[in-house]
Amino acid sequence: EASAGVEPQKKRLGVMGGTFDPIHHGHLVAASEVASLFHLDEVVFVPTGEPWQKSGRVVSAAEDRYLMTVIATAENPQFSVSRIDIDREGPTFTIDTLRDLQAIHPDADLFFITGADALEQIFSWRKAEQLFDLAHFIGVTRPGHTLTDPGLPPGGATLVEVPALAISSTDCRERVARGEPVWYLVPDGVVRYIDKRHLYAPAASAGALDG
Ligand code: ATP
Ligand code: MG
Repeated sequence: EASAGVEPQKKRLGVMGGTFDPIHHGHLVAASEVASLFHLDEVVFVPTGEPWQKSGRVVSAAEDRYLMTVIATAENPQFSVSRIDIDREGPTFTIDTLRDLQAIHPDADLFFITGADALEQIFSWRKAEQLFDLAHFIGVTRPGHTLTDPGLPPGGATLVEVPALAISSTDCRERVARGEPVWYLVPDGVVRYIDKRHLYAPAASAGALDG
């Protein structure tokens, strides 16, 4: 078709970074809501690399976190998962994630999705000033955290309200360790994967509660 001076629309690519240890419905609803509100073509979930200390805790193997993220997102044609952070050496910095994604998708506009708690700390991230040149930042509400603007550059970020799910990976891990259910907090396939791999359970009791 002859163009009437209309430029082809740039692809709108959401980026959802996280440890995903495990991925839960709070992550999924945030990504889905932002995809809808911002008319995104796709949201790519990017599990962080390893080895990595988070609050003094060694996180689960990258491959387990990657596979849980794949299982959780597989049914949604708008969702995909990237290995870029788990395949890169060393600790994960969002600046590297965004640079790599921009190189892979030179024709896309990037929208980085982050919860209220993570957004608060954005200026402690490596090369914080340059982050806003690479992506538009979208801060989403999260129960237990106040969504405040930490001094974001004008036009560099948008704060939005998403359906409130008081779910955290920390709580999911603690529930599994106590033998409590995580059904309906994480997708069914992730419940089964955690069980199959004996994740989060004290080694001695792994499988002990099975029928
Ligand atoms: P942990 O308890 O291990 O820190 P988490 O639940 O915070 O896990 P992360 O993998 O740390 O999950 O989070 C990835 C991203 O998803 C972050 O930007 C975080 O703010 C956001 N996020 C996590 N849970 C929710 C939720 N329930 N609602 C909205 N955003 C969330
Ligand atoms: Mg967190």
